Amino acid sequence: MKPADTVLVYQSELDYLSRCILDYPHIETGGQLFGYWTSAGVPVVLYAIGPGDNANHQPTFFNQDLDYLETVGEILVHEFGLQHIGEWHSHHQLGLAYPSGHDAHTIYDNMLRHNLRWFLLCIGNCTNTTSTINAFNFVESTSCYQESQWEVLPMESPFRKVIDRRLKRILRHPYTKTPVLVGMKYKSMVVQGVKQQYPKGYWMNDKSNNKVLKTMLDFVQEQHDDMDCNVSLDENRLVHILVKNEEEAITTDILFPMGFPERSPLITYETEGLCASGLGWQPIEGETEQSFIEYYKLHRL
Ligand SMILES: [Zn+2]
Repeated sequence: MKPADTVLVYQSELDYLSRCILDYPHIETGGQLFGYWTSAGVPVVLYAIGPGDNANHQPTFFNQDLDYLETVGEILVHEFGLQHIGEWHSHHQLGLAYPSGHDAHTIYDNMLRHNLRWFLLCIGNCTNTTSTINAFNFVESTSCYQESQWEVLPMESPFRKVIDRRLKRILRHPYTKTPVLVGMKYKSMVVQGVKQQYPKGYWMNDKSNNKVLKTMLDFVQEQHDDMDCNVSLDENRLVHILVKNEEEAITTDILFPMGFPERSPLITYETEGLCASGLGWQPIEGETEQSFIEYYKLHRL
């Protein structure tokens, strides 16, 4: 069986992970993920935990506080019926957005030892103020893992409050109060739209604009067929189309600002900076994608 290419997650748990990662911007941190697997092997993340007090944080590795994991895990499994489906750790600013060779080896080892069919590993990265999380699905007796996209349920996990209350005396929560997720690989945004995620009045609140965004994304991808183009939400929950080179560096950032499509998209090139914004932008009602294509051609370097 092939590893799934998606991970289902509640927004509250992604936010929790972001806050945990931002607590340690210069050193590794981590924790465990609880939930279950669908029959198709898609992990569903219902509850995430961070490091216990005696966790070992080092620049290039992290070990969880095992007493903490055992105490919390025991209750999550036996009282709440959740399974330990995976782990996460942060490569902070190491520039490694995927599992290291050692990480992959450790996961396969554990799967073999504990007879696990599937396992989810999430790797975090950050700057001093922003974080991102990538998900990787592992399957028994295959030697490659699958990088996966997040399918976000835009609400609080039904387990978050009850478990927080039940384990009030035991749980350690992040100090950082505000999650900041950038550069996330989302699936559901383009495919089905996540209405609650956008600011009030933003063009993407209109579901029919999912198709418009998809058309624009496809067009940009055609223009840069040697690079990776994807859609990303920034900390203000505004949509960007990002063009990345092989080293994952952003070469073009197209922001759809508040007020789009009356206002023009803002195109920033890594080399040239913000291009003449607004010049030549002529939005035609109902033909936003065509206006975008003309505009992009005009400003393409
Ligand atoms: Zn690692």
